[in-house]
Amino acid sequence: MSLAPSHVELGEDQAALIEAAREFARGELLPLDRKWDQDESSVAEVLPTLGGMGLLNMLVPEELGGLGCSYSTYAAILHEISVCSPSTAVTISVHSMVGAIVNRFASEPLRSEVLSDWSSAASFAAFALSEAGAGSDAAAAKCAAAKVDGGYRLNGEKMWITNGLSGRWFLTLVRLDGVPDGESLCALLVDGNETGIERTEIHGKMGIRGSETAVANFTDTFVPDDHLLGQPGQGLEVFLSSLNQGRIGIAAQATGIGEACLDEMVNYARQREQFGRPIGMFQGVGNMIADSAVELEASKLLVWRAAYRVDAGELDRQASSMAKAYASEAANRIAYRAVQVHGGTGYVHECRVEQLYRDARVTTIYEGTSEIQRIIIARELARL
Ligand SMILES: Cc1cc2nc3c(=O)[nH]c(=O)nc-3n(C[C@H](O)[C@H](O)[C@H](O)COP(=O)(O)OP(=O)(O)OC[C@H]3O[C@@H](n4cnc5c(N)ncnc54)[C@H](O)[C@@H]3O)c2cc1C
Repeated sequence: MSLAPSHVELGEDQAALIEAAREFARGELLPLDRKWDQDESSVAEVLPTLGGMGLLNMLVPEELGGLGCSYSTYAAILHEISVCSPSTAVTISVHSMVGAIVNRFASEPLRSEVLSDWSSAASFAAFALSEAGAGSDAAAAKCAAAKVDGGYRLNGEKMWITNGLSGRWFLTLVRLDGVPDGESLCALLVDGNETGIERTEIHGKMGIRGSETAVANFTDTFVPDDHLLGQPGQGLEVFLSSLNQGRIGIAAQATGIGEACLDEMVNYARQREQFGRPIGMFQGVGNMIADSAVELEASKLLVWRAAYRVDAGELDRQASSMAKAYASEAANRIAYRAVQVHGGTGYVHECRVEQLYRDARVTTIYEGTSEIQRIIIARELARL
């Protein structure tokens, strides 16, 4: 089922894009996703295909060769991708979020130069906000930038970088040397082809094992002046304002996982027999299916509403945080039930719900934990 609520009539182009993503995901991504999970290899192998289909270019304006999708279309497409490959969904989501930031904050000609090649695997992008000592408290970032002739020199380490092994562009939060604390955070678009960048893979993730996660060490890495996005001192704002939209991507990833779990649960409950009848006929199993269906539907509505708000030009932090917090937690509950409905069968690698259960787990952690989403929701309410 699509992310779009049934009462919403999709435009012809919108429906065609969503359908193409669904077919591609079911036909090609699903088997690959199972392989990536098993051998912890990277989704990067499909980047050229994703680029060819426009899936790396969804939020880039049409005049720069992008699809110029609305956020609702974008979320609906990520949902379809995530049903078959949550790893691919987060890969696209992070790359797209960085593209949206470049579009909004980069000055010309950098914006056009970078975005006109955004669908190419060679322009793959990463979002380098977190550090070992700065996770939920992103403002504690220590990665340092020293002003030099024509640009900056970076020294420090960023952690947990999705797309960080194959990525060309690293949108990086840095602290400018010699500037008072409140004005020192800056957003720099670092070119991964520069010297002085060491990338180390973070191995052994519980889930989304096809998605690359890396540590990046910067040693005297040069970044030209015009790669500063926004104003000096505005770095945190550049990152946090974009996370508002980014969270819609993760929320859509979560609804995709929930959808896949519900499908698996229903199919199994129809075919598995105990006590001489399909287990779906038992009320205990039916309740798990019904609760999951309700929570999935509620998640989709929240995600659609958050995307709609962005499309309407509103900065509704509460809507994005509600969608992210609810959809990610619901995906975890649904995945739990999916394993339960499968009994012992659901506890082994061979069964897809075992993987989905692990894939769901990170959705309440990255792009702001559930606890941080609740802080945002409560803060926005208190403002009223
Ligand atoms: C697979 C994966 C991919 C990631 N990809 C990226 C990426 O591409 N780019 C990037 O920059 N980061 C990325 N991250 C990092 C992710 O965003 C952080 O892990 C997350 O923000 C939490 O930070 P932390 O891990 O340091 O936990 P902490 O901030 O140390 O939190 C630990 C616990 O304390 C709670 N907590 C912290 N502060 C508060 C508070 N004020 N009130 C209540 N509870 C609180 C948290 O909710 C959590 O439960 C990724 C992480 C993972 C696991």
